[in-house]
Amino acid sequence: MIDVILKKGKEKAVLQRHPWLFSGAVERVKGKPANGDIVRLLNDRGGFMAYGFYNGQSRVALRLLEWDEAVEVNEDWFRRKVAVAVAGRGNILNESTNTCRLVFSEADYLPGLIVDKYADYLAVQVLTSGIENVMPIIIDELQKLLKPEGIFDKSDAGSRAHEGLDTINQVLAGKHPPELVTVIENGLTYGINIAEGQKSGFYCDQRDNRRITAQHAKGKKVLDCFSYTGGFTLNALKNGAASVTSVDSSALAIETLKKNIALNKLDAKKVTTIQSDVNRQLRTFREQGEKFDLIVLDPPKYAPSRSALDKASRAYKDLNRLAMYLLEPGGLLATFSCSGAMDIDTFKQVLAWAALDAGKEVQFIYQFCQPEDHPVRASFPEGEYLKGLLCRVY
Ligand code: SAH
Repeated sequence: MIDVILKKGKEKAVLQRHPWLFSGAVERVKGKPANGDIVRLLNDRGGFMAYGFYNGQSRVALRLLEWDEAVEVNEDWFRRKVAVAVAGRGNILNESTNTCRLVFSEADYLPGLIVDKYADYLAVQVLTSGIENVMPIIIDELQKLLKPEGIFDKSDAGSRAHEGLDTINQVLAGKHPPELVTVIENGLTYGINIAEGQKSGFYCDQRDNRRITAQHAKGKKVLDCFSYTGGFTLNALKNGAASVTSVDSSALAIETLKKNIALNKLDAKKVTTIQSDVNRQLRTFREQGEKFDLIVLDPPKYAPSRSALDKASRAYKDLNRLAMYLLEPGGLLATFSCSGAMDIDTFKQVLAWAALDAGKEVQFIYQFCQPEDHPVRASFPEGEYLKGLLCRVY
């Protein structure tokens, strides 16, 4: 095994078990490891620190896996990590939910591996060269544990490029998923287009937040912004919303949302779909004097990195300000940010700022977070990305 020597004074994060080692912290590589090889990290005095995946091309030179020198990172090690992650989802999967994230990368000690379950199909994302190397083991273990109909690779091109990997969109094992795979979440049925849909096809990280938000929807006039295939829309209808207006810029998302309403035999007459840019649509509603009782804002990630936070904060502020104008007095705003760079305190400040600008008073009545199948590892706070606030607006 090849040794990588850490620069003097760079031990702290490694000792705290942070799984990333940036290339700037590497003093020297003794040999020529290939991208994805498992290497041994030593301190400047030659003492063992950790085992990790090496990548000479990435800003993250090492993805640390194991801190105990005596534990060999071998086939069995990867099988154990997959099995423990899958077992940890036992509380989520039941008769009313058969879709969830089974493996969440660093948080599940498998940096660069994401596995989502969609009923009998699995969608994986392979984002590091290290995981790419051990995929035959991972696939075999997933097949053994779950016996899926098929495993589909849905790796995100952007992140793979950082590791020098090509884009992939293919069947890894078993059958190609049908155009629409049917899943259940919170007792509602969704058709998921695994091959064509966004990300891996469905945002299962909002499962609990959809349910909690919908508890406030009974008899209400609801506006679901960034509706995608209708996660919040369907939960609100099921909970007796008087009407739901769903806005998304994607035609495919809206089309799938309509199919999902039919699949669940919900009352399509209560739903208005609008394919539009949300900011523009919110302005149009304001000009028309339109008002709602409950508004959901679940935008895509505005801040891809910490350096983009200021600009993103302004975008979140504008979006939330526009929504606040449209609420009846005492109406509810369920507003989310899936930007890891934006923490909950900054998000609260953004909302306070939006309220001031809109001339409104805002109470935070509930704090949303990511669900238990998207765990946050104590030594990897970067994995916490989804947060939201349920606000009462006067
Ligand atoms: N709330 C959804 C997930 C939202 S994902 C759910 O529960 O499943 C973000 C969505 O925002 C995507 O569907 C994307 O098409 C849409 N989107 C991105 N930018 C947009 C914009 N400017 N206006 C409208 N929709 C947008």
